[in-house]
Amino acid sequence: MSASWKLWELPFFDRWHKDLAVQVTSWLASRSHNAGSDGFIAECRGIVRDLGDAGLLRYVVPEGSESYDLRSICLLREALTYEHALLDGMFAMQGIGTIGIRQFGSEEQKERYLPGCRRGTRVAAFALTEPEAGSDVASLATTATRDGDHFIINGEKTLISNAGFADHYVVVARTGEAPRSRGLSAFIVDAETPGVSAGEQMEFIAKHPGGSIKFTDCRVPACAMLGAPGQGFTVAMAAFDIFRPSVGAAAVGLAQRAMHETLKRVTTRQLFGKPMCELQSVQMTLADMAADIDTAALTVYRAGWSHDVLGKRGSYAPSMAKLVGSEAAGRVVDRAVQLSGGMGVTQGNLIEQLYREARPMRIYEGASEVQKQIIARSMLAEYLGK
Ligand SMILES: Cc1cc2nc3c(=O)[nH]c(=O)nc-3n(C[C@H](O)[C@H](O)[C@H](O)COP(=O)(O)OP(=O)(O)OC[C@H]3O[C@@H](n4cnc5c(N)ncnc54)[C@H](O)[C@@H]3O)c2cc1C
Repeated sequence: MSASWKLWELPFFDRWHKDLAVQVTSWLASRSHNAGSDGFIAECRGIVRDLGDAGLLRYVVPEGSESYDLRSICLLREALTYEHALLDGMFAMQGIGTIGIRQFGSEEQKERYLPGCRRGTRVAAFALTEPEAGSDVASLATTATRDGDHFIINGEKTLISNAGFADHYVVVARTGEAPRSRGLSAFIVDAETPGVSAGEQMEFIAKHPGGSIKFTDCRVPACAMLGAPGQGFTVAMAAFDIFRPSVGAAAVGLAQRAMHETLKRVTTRQLFGKPMCELQSVQMTLADMAADIDTAALTVYRAGWSHDVLGKRGSYAPSMAKLVGSEAAGRVVDRAVQLSGGMGVTQGNLIEQLYREARPMRIYEGASEVQKQIIARSMLAEYLGK
């Protein structure tokens, strides 16, 4: 791993995690970066193919009945983000866009969609957010209306990663069995289905593919539904239980990179006649950054261990890992900018890039406020014995 401390020596890990960390680190070192001479979409597709060729996508799209090893996913996300957040984004989306199929799909659906996503020859996407409904998932307005042995989908999704070049979308729409979250269902919609249209790519502050998708009288067979009618919210939440803690891991990787770059800077930059790192207040800042990174890493890997080894489910640990990791990365990278001085806010500087990459982490897959609400509700439910 990129970190100077050896994560796998923590009691949270098994022997194979060290091998995996070594494998991904050497893959990253040997990978030639093709920064989009054929355009950004080709670059993103190329990353997915490379991840598939390297055998890494099997951790987010496990074979057959293999379960998700959350610690492996976290280790990989940490290492990929240390290198570049875009690598991590493409890796994570293959999992987020397939977990509903793995956990709620029929054998036929699994056979049709999963092998290609695991090999990296198909690109997956997950379409939940709408222009008027993000954090409040229960208020989604996209409808799926039954018409014989089909459903007809109408509505718009926005901020959807991989929009416009994904091969399929897992779409959550209102089928109306009950009010709010109990009236939603999930569907697999092939990108080429008539009635599916993607808008222009959105320009995010950091390099990331995404945009809006419109569904206009989009007819899908009833067998495209994942799970039962009314189970859409459950399908969406299942994705979050695995991928929220791993956002925390990606944040740890990013924060470690910021720390690494900062150490380079403060040991070489002269300030008032001596290296910056000799100033006590700079040392205090380094210690604050390290405390944030350690706390975040321990929270993330505790969540992984509790999922993999104790078999614990529930939202407390995933939400805590996402909250602590993403907030820590925000503070760490902000301090890294400060210690970089003016160069830290110039375009093209790595610290400036990390600053932009860290910011969305506190918003996507549930904003920090949403995570706090989940944590508090979970504690209160336990305290009140519900
Ligand atoms: C880079 C990126 C990639 C994304 N990819 C996808 C994707 O692939 N698929 C997908 O479906 N969506 C995706 N999203 C959307 C993302 O999940 C939403 O942006 C997120 O859930 C927040 O929803 P919103 O943007 O509608 O903000 P809103 O719901 O309008 O919330 C705005 C703000 O309100 C605050 N807030 C929210 N809830 C509460 C609360 N309970 N109490 C107090 N304050 C609160 C938070 O500060 C929040 O940021 C992506 C977003 C980004 C930035």
